[in-house]
Amino acid sequence: MAMRRVAFHGRHLLSSSHLFCRHMSTEPMAALDRIRNSGLLKTQGLVGGKWIDSYDGKKIEVQNPATGDVIASVPCMGSKETTDAISSAYSTYSSWSKLTAAERSKTLRNWYDLIIKHKDELALLITLEQGKPIKEALGEVNYGASFIEFFSEEAKRIYGDIIPAPLSDRRLLVLKQPVGVVGAITPWNFPLAMITRKVGPALACGCTVVVKPSEFTPLTALAAADLALQAGIPPGALNIVMGNAPEIGDTLLKSTQVRKITFTGSTAVGKKLMEGSASTVKKVSLELGGNAPCIVFDDADIDVAVKGSLAAKFRNSGQTCVCANRILVQEGIYEEFAKAFVKAVQGMQVGNGLVEGTSQGPLINEAAVQKVEKFVNDATSKGANVILGGRRHSLGMTFYEPTVVSNVNRDMLLFKDEVFGPVAPLVPFKTEEDAISMANDTNAGLAAYIFTKSIPRSWCVSEALEYGLIGVNEGIISNEVAPFGGVKQSGLGREGSKYGMDEYLEVKYVCMGNLKGT
Ligand code: ADP
Repeated sequence: MAMRRVAFHGRHLLSSSHLFCRHMSTEPMAALDRIRNSGLLKTQGLVGGKWIDSYDGKKIEVQNPATGDVIASVPCMGSKETTDAISSAYSTYSSWSKLTAAERSKTLRNWYDLIIKHKDELALLITLEQGKPIKEALGEVNYGASFIEFFSEEAKRIYGDIIPAPLSDRRLLVLKQPVGVVGAITPWNFPLAMITRKVGPALACGCTVVVKPSEFTPLTALAAADLALQAGIPPGALNIVMGNAPEIGDTLLKSTQVRKITFTGSTAVGKKLMEGSASTVKKVSLELGGNAPCIVFDDADIDVAVKGSLAAKFRNSGQTCVCANRILVQEGIYEEFAKAFVKAVQGMQVGNGLVEGTSQGPLINEAAVQKVEKFVNDATSKGANVILGGRRHSLGMTFYEPTVVSNVNRDMLLFKDEVFGPVAPLVPFKTEEDAISMANDTNAGLAAYIFTKSIPRSWCVSEALEYGLIGVNEGIISNEVAPFGGVKQSGLGREGSKYGMDEYLEVKYVCMGNLKGT
C-alpha cells in the first residue's frame, strides 16, 4: 500500500500525524486516479494556449490537507512567465473583444456544459486539494458553473444608451466596451467558483484574463482552464500562472497592458493591490475579509435560526468570508438557542472530505489552526466559556473540533476579527439597538444574517446594517443572479448578477455633431 502511494505521488510525507490518517488514503488515491484518467490532472501553467513549466524549472508541491500527501507539483512561476501571459492576453484581446456577443456567449456556454459534464472529477479535485466535503465540493462546482452559464447569457445584454441631446444638431450615444486585459487573483477556499465568478463576466464582456490561483489549490484552476480550451475559448484569452505570489502580483500591477485587477482574499493583500494599482490607475474590484454578524432575535423561529446559523457558520469548516463570525443572541432566547445550537453542532461529522457523511473537513494548513487556537485562548483568558469542542481534533493533521464559545464580548479577538475556522462565538445582547451597534462595530462589511419573525424588524435592521449582503432567516445567500460584495473595508465592486458585468466594462460617450444637413 505504502509502496503504491510512493510511486503514485512521487513523494510521500511520512509524519506521525499522516500515519494516523493512513486508513483514509486509499480513497484519495482512487480519486486522483479518476481525475488523471479523465485527463484533467494538469500540472503546468497555461500561457497563450500552451501548457508550460516555469522557466527556471522550479516547482511547488500541492498537498492534500486531510492527509499531508503531495498530490502533484506545479510550476513556481514569477515575473517572466507573467509578462508572457500578459502579452498573450493583450494580443488575444484584439480578436476576442471583436467577436459578436453571440459568438462569445456560445463559447462560454460550451465551457459551462463541459464543467457540468466533468463535475464529479472537478469536485474530487476540490476535495483533494482544498479539503471540503465532497458534497460541498459538488455544490461548489454547480455554483462555479452557474457563473459561466449566467454570464454566457449576459454577454448578449451589454446595452448602450442614446441620450436626448441638449442641442438639436447633436446625437449623444453611450457605448459599453470591455476594459481590456484583466489580472485575477483568487484564494484557496473556493478553488473553482472564485475563478468563474471573475473570468465568466470578464470573457463575456470581451476582456482577456491572466489568472493567478492560490498556490494551495492550483489544480482545480488548471483543470477548469483545460475545459475552457476544449470549449473553444481561444488560446491566450485565459492564462494561468502560479508560484511567487508577490512577484506575479507586482508584474500584473506594473503592466500598463493590464487594465483591471480583480481580487478575492485577505484585506491586507487587497489593500496592497489597491495601492499598487494606483501607479497605472487600474480599475479595481476587491472581495476582502468579513466579520459577519448573525443576529438571533427573541422572536426568531428557533429551528430556522439554528439551521441557518449552523449553515452560515460551518460551511467549508468556517473558511468563507461570509461565514457567521459572531452569533449575537438576544437574552430572552439565549439559553434555549445555545442548547439547540450545541446539539446541532454535535451532530456534525469531522473527517476526510472523501468519506461519506463528513460535514467538516480539515483546515487548509497549520497556520489556520494556530490562528483558531489563538482566538479561542484569547477568548477564554478574557472570560468566555468553551461549551463544545475547543481543541484540535483527534484525527490530527489540521482537523479542529467544531467549537461553540459562549459569553463572547467586544474585547475578544473572536468578536473583532475573522476566525476563519469552525468556531462559533455566542454573544448575548439586550436590545435591537445594542445588536445593530455591535454588528456594525467593525471595519468589515460583507455579509450579515438576521433571524426574526417580524417583517418590520427585518426591514429596519437590514437597512441599519452596514453590510453588502443580508440574509433574513437564511444562512446561505450567494448565487449567480445576486450581487455579491462588501462595503467598508470588505471591498469594492460586485460580483455575480447583472451588476457583475459593469466591473469589466468602460462607458464611452460619443457625441455626433453638425447633423444639420441630414
Ligand atoms: P488567504 O489568507 O485567504 O490565503 P491571501 O490574501 O493571502 O488570503 O491570498 C489570496 C490570494 O492572494 C492568493 O492567490 C495568494 O497567493 C495571493 N497573494 C498573496 N500575497 C500576494 C501579493 N503580495 N501580491 C499578489 N497576490 C498575493
